[in-house]
Amino acid sequence: MGYRVGEILVSEAELGVRVRELAADISRDYADKDPLVIGVLKGAIFFIADLVRALSIDCEIDFMAVSSYGSQTTSSGVVRILKDLDVTIVGRHVLLIEDIIDSGLTLSYLHRNLASRGPASLEICALAAKPNAARFEPAPKYVGVQLPDEFVIGYGLDVDQRFRGLPYIAVLDQ
Ligand code: IMP
Ligand code: MG
Repeated sequence: MGYRVGEILVSEAELGVRVRELAADISRDYADKDPLVIGVLKGAIFFIADLVRALSIDCEIDFMAVSSYGSQTTSSGVVRILKDLDVTIVGRHVLLIEDIIDSGLTLSYLHRNLASRGPASLEICALAAKPNAARFEPAPKYVGVQLPDEFVIGYGLDVDQRFRGLPYIAVLDQ
């Protein structure tokens, strides 16, 4: 192992504020749209749980699991679907919930894949984005926090499947 929790970049209180702000925006934008909110496992679990509970509208929830990084901290560029959706998204207003956008490879793959299934609309909500993410299409409609180009852990984000349960986002000390 040899990993340690470094500097806290986004506190628990700050995360709470941003999640409520995003939930207010989404509730307004999706009023009367009966959205299907899709969480990308596992990194988005706490984010989607907090976000959906802060919505003032009802929604359906489903999950996908993809592998992108294996156990390294740099992008492999290879995306594999480990668990697909339980429901069809044809004609649905889909909101894809991602943990973090770094190279954007995972997201562009998922977006292409879901767009080909005929949703009425498809938008992205990411908990966090790193500087690289700005270069990639499609741009997420909602972003929780902008982060520096460092490997971070906590609030769902892991290194080797560890540290997901931290209530804040911190830099990984290696
Ligand atoms: P991308 O394909 O380079 O955009 O990477 C996206 C995926 O890599 C995310 O869904 C995360 O699972 C993982 N990832 C990217 N950066 C970090 C990080 O700083 N900490 C933990 N996971 C990360
Ligand atoms: Mg991940």
